[in-house]
Amino acid sequence: MDEIITALLDQDWSLLSDEELLASVRRVETWSRRLYAVALTATNELDSRRLAASQGVSSTAVLLRHLLRLSPRAARRRVEDAKDVCPSAMVSGSRVLSRLPGAAVALRAGTLSDEQYGVVRRTLRELPDDVSPRTRIEVEKQLVAEADRFDPSQLGKLAVRIRSHLDPDGVLRSERNAADRMELTLAQDLDGAIRVRGRLSAETAAVVRAALSPLAKPVPDDTRSAAKRRADALVELARRLLNAGTLPVEGTVRPHIGLTVDLAELRCHTGVVDLDWGGTVSMQAARRICCDADIIPIVMRGASQPLDVGRRQRLVTGPLRRALIARDRGCAAPGCDRPPEWCDAHHLVHWSDGGATSIDNTALLCGYHHTLIHQGEWTARMIDGIPHFIPPPWIDRARTPQRNTLRHPVLGEAA
Ligand SMILES: [Zn+2]
Ligand SMILES: [Zn+2]
Repeated sequence: MDEIITALLDQDWSLLSDEELLASVRRVETWSRRLYAVALTATNELDSRRLAASQGVSSTAVLLRHLLRLSPRAARRRVEDAKDVCPSAMVSGSRVLSRLPGAAVALRAGTLSDEQYGVVRRTLRELPDDVSPRTRIEVEKQLVAEADRFDPSQLGKLAVRIRSHLDPDGVLRSERNAADRMELTLAQDLDGAIRVRGRLSAETAAVVRAALSPLAKPVPDDTRSAAKRRADALVELARRLLNAGTLPVEGTVRPHIGLTVDLAELRCHTGVVDLDWGGTVSMQAARRICCDADIIPIVMRGASQPLDVGRRQRLVTGPLRRALIARDRGCAAPGCDRPPEWCDAHHLVHWSDGGATSIDNTALLCGYHHTLIHQGEWTARMIDGIPHFIPPPWIDRARTPQRNTLRHPVLGEAA
């Protein structure tokens, strides 16, 4: 087997004709599907020997995670995939046939992909108990046969139609269950981003959509995808609620973004910082978050022993913020019309670099422009008491300072 695979990897694929290449792609897919069937058989054997217990782990899924370094989800899925398709041994020693004999044959033959098999398996599991064994076999047969023509998502739609036909009350039931089965998870992805997964009932989803819709509208010349705009809208919604300060207090503090960072590290601009809620951000992002934030200094004894926790120190206080709003009237970046309530107070010289928290060293910036400034290509400077922004040389070779002329018309220069 290893030799065959090595030979396939080493062969010169560019020598194949188009037909040969198409045939090869199909053949390799069939092999990999058949190998998945082999993996399921082996998994089922692991499970029936109860090897997990003798290896000192709680389940076959956990054993697979250790053995193959699969994600928890992939490991659980593999065990469930195996259970439904492989014959199982009874305590008496006799063997019970596969629960999904049709899918078993198709998996062995390599005509059913693991994703299509997932659709078949879930559909059969979700059929109500009063559906006869005979009907179940027919449903399985039909789905397996259609897997020849349909990809997993088309097959899924067909499965929903079959289900609602066999189980008309099920539609009403699932509507009722939907509220109980609502969930939302935020889990770290392999590349460090946070993956948001969840399920809402149709009715509650409408509430969320209604709140996101006005914030997700495309702006002129918007190149963002609809999905990106929705994601931005969700963050904007949360940001506005946090800034409005109307959310319930949690453990005597208002809900906030938390991160712990060494002051010396914050000054050095490179590296990463762990967020209190999980996940990691770059030092650049940490500096932006700290730019307009409550800071609680903690004096450390040695590596990780807090010695003294200082008082919370609000960096941009009420009167200063009001003065900033009176001066900037919204985002101070050139051409931006976002209102003050969308804005953070940006320190022109970061406080960790010795910049003062004063009207002369701060400017209101919307989330977009705050991020842009912290990315470092644009710089901000105070000229005659008004924040000016200096474009990178590839936008303006002369690097002429610009200001927000929407709110501060350039009267002197126009004259
Ligand atoms: Zn800032
Ligand atoms: Zn802006």
